[in-house]
Amino acid sequence: MEISYPPRIQLARLPTPLQPLDRITEKFSTPHGGPRIWVKRDDLTETAMSGNKLRKLEFVAGQAVAQGCDTLITCGGVQSNHCRTTALVGARLGMRVQLILRGELDGIPDGNLLVDQLAGASTAFYPPRQYFEELPELFSHWQEFYAQRGHKAFPIPTGASDGLGIWGYIAASEELLADCSARGFVPEHIVCATGSGGTQAGLTLGCQLLASTARVTGYAVCDNADYFQSKVRADVRHWSALTKSDIDENTLNINVNADYIGPGYALAEEPVYRAIADIASLEGLLLDPVYTGKAFFGLLQELHRGSYRDCKNLVFVHTGGQFGLFPHREKFPFLL
Ligand SMILES: *Cc1c(COP(=O)(O)O)cnc(C)c1O
Repeated sequence: MEISYPPRIQLARLPTPLQPLDRITEKFSTPHGGPRIWVKRDDLTETAMSGNKLRKLEFVAGQAVAQGCDTLITCGGVQSNHCRTTALVGARLGMRVQLILRGELDGIPDGNLLVDQLAGASTAFYPPRQYFEELPELFSHWQEFYAQRGHKAFPIPTGASDGLGIWGYIAASEELLADCSARGFVPEHIVCATGSGGTQAGLTLGCQLLASTARVTGYAVCDNADYFQSKVRADVRHWSALTKSDIDENTLNINVNADYIGPGYALAEEPVYRAIADIASLEGLLLDPVYTGKAFFGLLQELHRGSYRDCKNLVFVHTGGQFGLFPHREKFPFLL
């Protein structure tokens, strides 16, 4: 099927590489075999703007500019990769950026927050409870604040996960399937970390639109399986409404693995940190404890259990997150 895309501003360096992880494949193969593991390097979409959010923001920025907006407002945790990417995209396009951040500024800015500040984004911090209870009001407050000063602000939801942002991963599905085909295979499985659901929604919908047989699985890093089942459906429903498509979100094959969330969002136990170190030393690939490290750790457990034994090729989408690794520096005492 020919997909026709809405306005898009090119920001990412595409296509990102698709690489085999043969030392990991060998180390984690079991007596009953297992797939060749590949990684789609979406951590290489750009340097500072790296990661999955940049693909979504190409379409979000396209829409914001088309609507004559000069300001972007978005939200997330203090170490949000999405906020950091938005801050840099705004600077790149000469737009103001207002970040609504969950948590407080304690001590010296680090990781993503340091980059937000370098990029000149305005930051407002809210205690988690107020953030969760009042997020829509906080967006209205800041939209109004900019309107009163003669600016037009475009609101971007958490992770740019909605019917607009998921275009980024519909396009990425097309790219990924072409990469695989150029390497001479059809992937049976595509795996990613899932946090606000948009990456998974885009990949799931993209594979369906392209009639791919690949099964997309999101490894949840927070919430639970029911949450992501309905979040992915909601994003696709929104997409269908925006595009006037007749895709029925109830026909989608949505797969969530919620067994490796651990203690909660941005909280991980030692095996995850050890897996991050193993993978860095084995393959030169840097994962983060909030998203990709947690998801990849889960994937390795499932490989070990033989869950993918009938699969020949599995693609892990590396969604980025490197800046979020450094604030966790004290979690690696075993390296000393
Ligand atoms: C946001 C993010 C994810 C999750 O993507 P969603 O589309 O929000 O589900 C995964 N990995 C990294 C590094 C992220 O920043």
